[in-house]
Amino acid sequence: SSSLFAAIDMAPRDPILGITEAFNADTNPGKINLGVGVYYDDNGKVPLLACVQKAEAKLMEQQSPRTYLPIEGLAAYDKAVQELVFGAGSPILQEKRAVTVQALGGTGALKIGADFLKRFSPNAEVFISDPSWENHRALFESAGFVVNNYTYYDPATHGVNFEGMLESLKAMPQGSIVVLHACCHNPTGADLTQEQWGKVIEVVTANELVPFLDMAYQGFGAGIAEDGAVVRRFAEAGGPLLISNSFSKSFSLYGERVGALSVVASNAEEAARLLSQLKRVVRTNYSNPPTHGGKVVATVLSTPELRQLWEDELAGMRVRIKEMRDALVKKLADKAPGRDFEFVREQVGMFSYSGLTKEQVGKLRAESIYAVDTGRICVAALNSKNIDRVVDAVAKVL
Ligand code: PLP
Repeated sequence: SSSLFAAIDMAPRDPILGITEAFNADTNPGKINLGVGVYYDDNGKVPLLACVQKAEAKLMEQQSPRTYLPIEGLAAYDKAVQELVFGAGSPILQEKRAVTVQALGGTGALKIGADFLKRFSPNAEVFISDPSWENHRALFESAGFVVNNYTYYDPATHGVNFEGMLESLKAMPQGSIVVLHACCHNPTGADLTQEQWGKVIEVVTANELVPFLDMAYQGFGAGIAEDGAVVRRFAEAGGPLLISNSFSKSFSLYGERVGALSVVASNAEEAARLLSQLKRVVRTNYSNPPTHGGKVVATVLSTPELRQLWEDELAGMRVRIKEMRDALVKKLADKAPGRDFEFVREQVGMFSYSGLTKEQVGKLRAESIYAVDTGRICVAALNSKNIDRVVDAVAKVL
């Protein structure tokens, strides 16, 4: 028998996975899972976008051999990502200051970025928002960093404690790595205004912090260009900048693992050196990325009709979520008069910090409605068929 394995403890369970397990085991046919981090359509299904189906049909016809991709991924994909993230014709791209590597989803992009930063800034500390996507902390800790929080959410206003956030940024040691949600903050749904971003960029630049923008939901906020504007503003500020982006949600391609890491350097020569080091990180992790998802996304983004179709389909998802926010607010005003849920309309993206307490979430579970203990609900899991049941149950537990 192996004493090495015999001494290994059971790792703690993933809290979101625990909700899904409980949901799956529930035999109530009316059960509703608002704990997920996935976009569902009005029929409660994960969509297969028409632009993806058409791109796949095209790729199927080509019958390409499955050779290895370059370490940094498919060239057409990396280029399409850059144009989406920085804007086609951006001076950053013309000056060849940005380098991009295809990654295994947004998570893979964050991990490549974290490993890269650990090599070249080993003593820096990392700061994530309080609260943040739960994997941010684990990811940067597993790359060897000490991870701290910066002030972000204010439960009293259901919005951002912006003064507190600025104070946190000002107090960070020079060279600290600050992870910022570019749009559609997960888990709270509370985003900064464009004016507030301007102040954040000033402090980040003055304090010589290293911004790492995580953009997992481009197109789910105000629109593709609008959501990406913050990346351009940071890039123009001139300092070092890392951006992880993901197509899991915007293309509904969760299982294909399509994302990218982009890094902005001071000039083309520095950018070339950065790329060589990023490739080293990839090479020693998984050698090179898979072909299918990258080809699908590159095909859609670079074929005008498919690109238009994608933008329309993405707008459809964005609009449906907003309709569900509106419906939730209106119906709750009816069923729970005197309680103000207006803030749900102000929140952006797939999630809402609903303000429900852990105890209330527990009571919802007795009604076979599943949410995260923090009160986070996935607005994209609401639809015209289940919303009344959700509203009735919420009104009952308030
Ligand atoms: N970053 C944030 C803020 C997210 O919410 C998510 C997914 O939920 C990710 C990164 C990871 O995205 P992916 O599934 O593409 O790895």
